[in-house]
Amino acid sequence: MPRLGVLGWPVTHSRSPAMHNAALRALGMEDWRYQLLPVPPERFTETVRALRDAGFVGANVTIPHKHSALELADTAGRAARAIGAANTLTFTPDGAIAAENTDAPGFLDAFGVSPEGMSAQVLGAGGSARAVAWALREAGAREVSVWNRTHERADALARELGVRAVPHPESAELLVNCTSVGLEPEGSNLKQSATEPQGLNLLELTFDQVGTYSHVVDLVYRSSPTPLLAAARTYGAHTVDGLEILLAQGALSFQLWTGVQAPLDVMRRALRD
Ligand code: NAP
Repeated sequence: MPRLGVLGWPVTHSRSPAMHNAALRALGMEDWRYQLLPVPPERFTETVRALRDAGFVGANVTIPHKHSALELADTAGRAARAIGAANTLTFTPDGAIAAENTDAPGFLDAFGVSPEGMSAQVLGAGGSARAVAWALREAGAREVSVWNRTHERADALARELGVRAVPHPESAELLVNCTSVGLEPEGSNLKQSATEPQGLNLLELTFDQVGTYSHVVDLVYRSSPTPLLAAARTYGAHTVDGLEILLAQGALSFQLWTGVQAPLDVMRRALRD
């Protein structure tokens, strides 16, 4: 049975199994399975090697393993190397482990508008902010600014990726939230970072300020709109939520493993239901 999965710690909240198993069923790949693979950091490397030896085809990688995934891989794609993190591992027939980052191209696919020539304000300086800042720069954004609660991390990211660190969020055409502010607690093992009314203020934004961005993307995914997306929608901005980003990165991983075009509508329904 060809097997796939998602490695994380914690990972019980992941919607990836529902999305990928729905895709496999829809394509008649009945003998394939995608499963949760909860692995603590100290067991990550040995687990990945055991998956390869057990005949797994590939795995997604999420918090906190994306950097380790890149480190242990035998080969890595350009995006993974530049970002310093991998979210997709593929076990090749010759026993090698190949790392790729589909978060960056997935963000661009889900955004659906070319950021070429746009100014962008990225919030956050963690793993997803690195992927988004790199993707925007590569796609020709005119200016990419990064704000983070811990300013030193924004500075370090900016130096490494050739973007600009700013002490407060600035005006831009595109705003992308890559912090965990806005996570909801229900059904999640992750800690909520903000109560609803505090959400925007933790991002150093006011409700009115959100109205100045014509495009707003929030990587946080939850069943109801995040405070940021709710505000952006009241101003009529073009918005993209975290589930669309999750879908797009998952579709690219699926295609890497199976060589088959991912059935987006089926996967979207599985994620949103
Ligand atoms: P990460 O590496 O742990 O980074 C977390 C970021 O959030 C840091 O910049 C951190 O700032 C900031 N932060 C946390 N609590 C905060 C608070 N109370 N106020 C202000 N800033 C706060 O996480 P990540 O991997 O980048 O993921 C970030 C979010 O994106 C998570 O919610 C994750 O689920 C989501 N995500 C979604 C997708 C998708 O496919 N939709 C993909 C990847 C990530 P400090 O540096 O100051 O701590």
